Parts: sequence; structure tokens; C-alpha cells
Amino acid sequence: MKGIGKLTIITGPMYSGKTTELLSFAEIYELGRKKILIFKPAIDTRYSKDDVVTHKMFKMPARVVGKAQEILEYYESLEEKPDAIFVDEVHFFDGNLTKVLKTITLDGVDVYCAGLDMSYLWEPFDVTAQLMSIADEVIKKKAVCEVCGEYNATLSYKTRANGGVLDVGGKEKYIAVCKECYQKIRKEEGH
Ligand SMILES: [Zn+2]
Repeated sequence: MKGIGKLTIITGPMYSGKTTELLSFAEIYELGRKKILIFKPAIDTRYSKDDVVTHKMFKMPARVVGKAQEILEYYESLEEKPDAIFVDEVHFFDGNLTKVLKTITLDGVDVYCAGLDMSYLWEPFDVTAQLMSIADEVIKKKAVCEVCGEYNATLSYKTRANGGVLDVGGKEKYIAVCKECYQKIRKEEGH
């Protein structure tokens, strides 16, 4: 009997290398000739419709899903189960994701996921918070602060504050900042 799979979550602000780390774990399985599956939410169309792509344009083919339940349905439809599954941009998924991924680990499959821990309002994303609590390993990444240049950015700041907390975007919309710079900018903007 197979053991229970390990759940790993890679989290942090924008531009902290979450997807890069996710794909580097995926590469390790591939190098070991293991079978993997990569999923991403339908909402994230920044670089490519069917691939998971890093900011440096390294990419791997991914299956696009609308709801968390679709991950489980697809998994269950497979005759040959993967050794590991990878889910990018988990903060875009519904609250079912935790249950779905737990079910898959119970089947002996390792699960790696990546996503933002906080919105640009410095508030937790529930799905990520849930995954962080049930994970075997939490990898919290930092980015370089766009304002002061220090490698201590833990927050994402939205330079154009419209479109809500689940608004897809890149450098034209979001920057990574440290907490001190975040507070400074908010004050300057009169919040
Ligand atoms: Zn800073």
C-alpha cells in the first residue's frame, strides 16, 4: 500500500519566484521519470492559456480548470495515476481546493501548490491560508522591494486600485513591497 502523499505550499508576494519553485519541483519528478500533472485556474491568462509560465518565461504544459472539484474529477478519470500533482495560483480557486488536494494526498500522491498568501490589502487569501495550515511544508518566499530595493518584500501593492482582490495582472498593476514601504505609499495616497 502506498503511503500518504506530502503536501507542500509555496507562497509569498508577487515576483517572489513561487511559480519558478513550483516548476523546479515538477522538473525533479520529471527527471526521475515520474508522472506529473500540472493544473492552473482558468482565470490566470497572463502569459499563456495552457501552460504554467514563470516571469522569466520558463513554462510547462498545464491543464486549465475552472473549479477545484474539476481537479478531483480529472484525477479520478485517469487510469494511470500521477506520482505528483502541481497547482499554480491557488488563491484564485474556491474553498473546495483544500478538501480536493487532501483527498489526492490520501491516495498516495504528492501535492505541490503555489499562490499568493495575501491580497494587495495585506489580508490573507482564505484558500492559501487553509492550505498553509494543512501542509507538511510551507515555503514562504520574499521578493525584492520595488521601492527601497531590499530583499524583504512580503506584500503585493496594487498601483491601480480597481478591479478587486482577484484581479490578474503583472508589473503594470502590481509591485512587490516591504511592509515599511507599503505603509509609506498608503499614507502618501491618503489611506
Ligand atoms: Zn521597501
